[in-house]
Amino acid sequence: MCGITAYVGNMQAKNIVLSSLKNLEYRGYDSAGIAYFQQDELSVIKSVGQIKFLEEKIQSKTVDTNIAMGHTRWATHGAANEVNAHPHFSQNKNVCVIHNGIIENAENLKNLLHNKKLYSQTDTEVFANVLEQKLQNNFLEENVLKCLNELTKEIKGSYAFGIMINGICDKIFFAKQKSPLVLGIGKNFNMFCSDQNAMIDGTQKILFLSDGDYGFIEKNSFKIFSQGKEIKRKCFAFDNKKMCINKNGNTTFMEKEIKEGSLAVFSTMKYLCEKNFNELIEEIKKAKNIFVIGCGTALNAGEIFRFILERDIKLFASLDFASEFRYKKPNLNKNCLCIFISQSGETADTLASASLAKRRGAKCIAITNVLDSKITKICSHILPTCAGVEVSVASTKAYMAQLTTLYYLVLL
Ligand code: GLU
Repeated sequence: MCGITAYVGNMQAKNIVLSSLKNLEYRGYDSAGIAYFQQDELSVIKSVGQIKFLEEKIQSKTVDTNIAMGHTRWATHGAANEVNAHPHFSQNKNVCVIHNGIIENAENLKNLLHNKKLYSQTDTEVFANVLEQKLQNNFLEENVLKCLNELTKEIKGSYAFGIMINGICDKIFFAKQKSPLVLGIGKNFNMFCSDQNAMIDGTQKILFLSDGDYGFIEKNSFKIFSQGKEIKRKCFAFDNKKMCINKNGNTTFMEKEIKEGSLAVFSTMKYLCEKNFNELIEEIKKAKNIFVIGCGTALNAGEIFRFILERDIKLFASLDFASEFRYKKPNLNKNCLCIFISQSGETADTLASASLAKRRGAKCIAITNVLDSKITKICSHILPTCAGVEVSVASTKAYMAQLTTLYYLVLL
């Protein structure tokens, strides 16, 4: 999982992108980078580690820009180093890309490249070069959109792309498939980010892009296309104050979120008590095999669930690391029930396990803190935890909310 953000407006874009990236840092923090136009020249600054290191590097240079995009990375392809950090230029520096997701056919696409030298180990750099090759030195807006439309059919996997094209100095292009992307509209600016919490003050409306959408933002307008046709998406009023992420006087997000633990348990309990889960409980009881799948803290919650399931209602479940699940070749069929636990709902291995279980006809339940996340599109039953946004990577309140949900299922 990575975080992307992009801004075109009349304010100092480097500060906006940096502050937006800080609210996306929970999505990845192994390296970060920014691309911007300054006097029509497209430049990139990258740094390993947290956003603060990128910030130091940017402040040491004279960056003055109204159009920029930024990325905070959690590597899927290649090590966490500066070469692999985003943004990635294509070989001739005509295309610059930030990316959240995984291009599954990157190796095949690489074979289609003619005389392109790749510097990083990322799937993202492959895309930057594929787009450059497709553009055939025609850097007009219409051609970029035509090529993006074609590429949405050729790329397999997940992506939210931010794309800057050398020579198109007033626009940032985007394309989305299976990774989240929200567009924000303000007075004299437009932006897009992986998460609405990274929108800046002054954002008046937001809209959620759908899979297959591509288009661009510029200072006073934006355009969205799907399958070659311009489309409109529903806008929602945006309440900055409600969404704004801050530490509320605490030294760290973790400290703040620990204090929010009791509210997370209360809100989750309230939600559960208002719903009727009889059908779901019956599904659990009649399942021949129960699999509980997650990573990290979510897996720890699963461990406790497995224990109480056996102790209190004599049901046996197998507990699996999401990263191992598909390799053990599980015997999945319609009599199986799989419970996937993921705070973000976007943990790549958990998603891959859920897709496999769904393909084999197993009943899939997701326990997640993010209602519009990818896992909710795969599973047929969703049990939301109501912990609110969790920024700290060490999970606290979301873990408490997961346990609340899992205990509730056993106690019913
Ligand atoms: N696949 C890209 C990389 O490895 C993006 C990673 C992600 O979104 O997690 O750099």
